[in-house]
Amino acid sequence: MAVPLMQAVRVGRYVVKQHLLGRKRYPLVLMLEPLFRCNLACAGCGKIDYPAQILNQRLSLQECLDADAEADAPVIAIAGGEPLLHKEMPEIVKGLTARKKYVYLCTNGLLLEKKLDDYEPNPFFSWDIHLDGDKAMHDSSVCQEGVYERAVAAIRKAKERGFRVSINCTLFDGAQPERVARFFDEVMALGVDGVMTAPGYAYERAPDQEHFLNRQKTKQLFRDIFRLGKGKKWRFTQSPLFLNFLAGNENYHCTPWGKPLRTVFGWQRPCYLLGEGYAKTFKELMDDTAWEQYGTGAYEKCADCMVHSGYESTAVMDAVKRPWHIAKVALFGPETEKPMVPEISLENQRPAEYKYEAQVAEQVTLLESRKPARGPRVRVHKAEEKPVEVADAAD
Ligand code: SF4
Repeated sequence: MAVPLMQAVRVGRYVVKQHLLGRKRYPLVLMLEPLFRCNLACAGCGKIDYPAQILNQRLSLQECLDADAEADAPVIAIAGGEPLLHKEMPEIVKGLTARKKYVYLCTNGLLLEKKLDDYEPNPFFSWDIHLDGDKAMHDSSVCQEGVYERAVAAIRKAKERGFRVSINCTLFDGAQPERVARFFDEVMALGVDGVMTAPGYAYERAPDQEHFLNRQKTKQLFRDIFRLGKGKKWRFTQSPLFLNFLAGNENYHCTPWGKPLRTVFGWQRPCYLLGEGYAKTFKELMDDTAWEQYGTGAYEKCADCMVHSGYESTAVMDAVKRPWHIAKVALFGPETEKPMVPEISLENQRPAEYKYEAQVAEQVTLLESRKPARGPRVRVHKAEEKPVEVADAAD
């Protein structure tokens, strides 16, 4: 089983309780981004395109614990940026797991072997290592040779030490089903506990805008992969109904509040993928976001999205309402032959709004206003005899 039985029971119990309490919206997974800074610059990532002042910001240990106390979700995914660049990360993980939260630490694996001694195996903790396919696929995805091999070496070391390890595999246009299926075979043989997979979201700030999948291509790709996986016992960390959705068999609408994101800017509206605004508190995020304005069919930027950030919570909530349905899909796997469900109409979606520049300007102004009155540190460049601004030190 890719998710430990106790975790499945606790999360199931939590979801049922929310339904019994009549809560219309509740978080399943708290997404924490304690920094945007990364040691890679992947072509399909839109998270690191910020000026240095912003990349150097960190959520402190206390801010991470406070975010957990506000949202109180049973599962926490720590993403970024690269979380292992954060000096307080071992304490953050320790603090959250001590509260019996299931913590997934998402990393590209480059620093993992070096940092492994700072962490201890724990039933509440799992490494979640990015591998977007086999060696050639992954190194091309992260735009750097040798990353796949270092990540795989780190996975081996983490498994030897007794850690839980899952793989986070994002797929892009051009992925070949046979190759992805072979890759899933390989990571299963490597002994990983589970695979989390999804199509890449079309980040507007990503350098490569050519390789994002639209919904029709996503469904066909996952159908073809799952057909090749019949009988193979691949272990996925996701709900079987989310996988069935990826294969074009569920007519789900997005529930972005299921995976709320806390970043150095605050609580991001509406989801992990889209930064259209920020709330100061979790309550403000839940109560004052115009949720109906987002999701496929409602907003142009959501048109091609089939990512777990928005749709996995929908699948988990559906499982509570239709337990017989999830049982059938869990037993037989996603449907790969019948006609797909009709696509959501985009006829009435509102046009995209572009807010990035204004948000960055606002954040930079805010950071400048917090600086001590003496202003930016300067040093004199001797050769040219003129002052050069020194970037704030990372970490
Ligand atoms: S569909 Fe939902 S999860 Fe996807 S980008 Fe839109 S709001 Fe976010």
